[in-house]
Amino acid sequence: MAAEVIYGKTLSENLRQEMKEQVEKLKQHGVTPGLTVIIIGNDPASISYVRGKQRASDVVGIDSKLIEMDNTTSQSELLELIKKLNNDPKTHGILVQLPLPDHIDEQVIIEAIHPTKDVDGFHPINIGKMMTGKETFFPCTPYGIITMLKSKNIQIEGKHAVVVGRSNIVGKPVGQLLLNENATVTYIHSKTKNFRHFTKQADILVVAVGKEHFISGEDIKAGAVVIDVGINRNAEGKLTGDVEFESAKEKASYITPVPKGVGPMTITMLLHNTIKSAQAGLK
Ligand code: NDP
Repeated sequence: MAAEVIYGKTLSENLRQEMKEQVEKLKQHGVTPGLTVIIIGNDPASISYVRGKQRASDVVGIDSKLIEMDNTTSQSELLELIKKLNNDPKTHGILVQLPLPDHIDEQVIIEAIHPTKDVDGFHPINIGKMMTGKETFFPCTPYGIITMLKSKNIQIEGKHAVVVGRSNIVGKPVGQLLLNENATVTYIHSKTKNFRHFTKQADILVVAVGKEHFISGEDIKAGAVVIDVGINRNAEGKLTGDVEFESAKEKASYITPVPKGVGPMTITMLLHNTIKSAQAGLK
């Protein structure tokens, strides 16, 4: 039997509806959640991502500001701006769109954002809190994946979760969140030998590699839950994931599509984190 498709887009629409109400409540208390997105340079993919984030913020009533800086912006200018935003009570979330130009040290910038405004969840303090099972801002894509699994009441506890990819923004944190939910977690990366040996054992398979058709139906166990994080553009200019959808769908119990899968959830969790930051200010 073919898998059930988990549409992050539909779930996002429902969650964003609830968020509108949360924002309305905050506004009644005189607080409008504020998100500032900083983009440096004119990389088309980054521009399209930040526009998506802005549009979604507007829909739920978050006051979103976009600061566009050119490629020659120095690290100290960017740090100065972040310092200003850290001290601005109307800014509840600060997001610096990555990647940054080579002359700016990404880690320095990530660490300059105050942890209470780090709605991307990349600050080492927030990562440390996540690792020790504390409440904090979780990185948006991993958090979106967990939210998708929970929306379908998919059991995580006791399951073998295999994560393909170990980047700081997707692979590592999604594995950590799955571990926090009591899964047994295996990570696969470019140095893993015979990775299919592991993917075939996965009850939950998360694929975040960035290579079209990296995983196909042959690489998965019957009944597996398959989460495709990849965003690739194929030769025809079409967006595709890392999983060969048609063959995997025949074997999986649940599968996420690309587009309309994990992507919209990433933005939704950014909105969630921004609202959470604004709510924390009221307490
Ligand atoms: P990275 O390039 O940072 O990481 C890719 C990972 O894949 C690395 O850990 C790498 O291993 C591993 N890898 C590469 N080749 C192989 C191989 N042959 N065998 C096993 N592992 C391999 O990518 P990201 O994590 O940032 O993103 C992954 C994908 O997800 C991309 O397509 C990206 O566009 C997409 N993405 C989607 C988002 C969404 O909202 N849907 C959000 C963020 C990313 P190693 O560490 O050893 O190099």
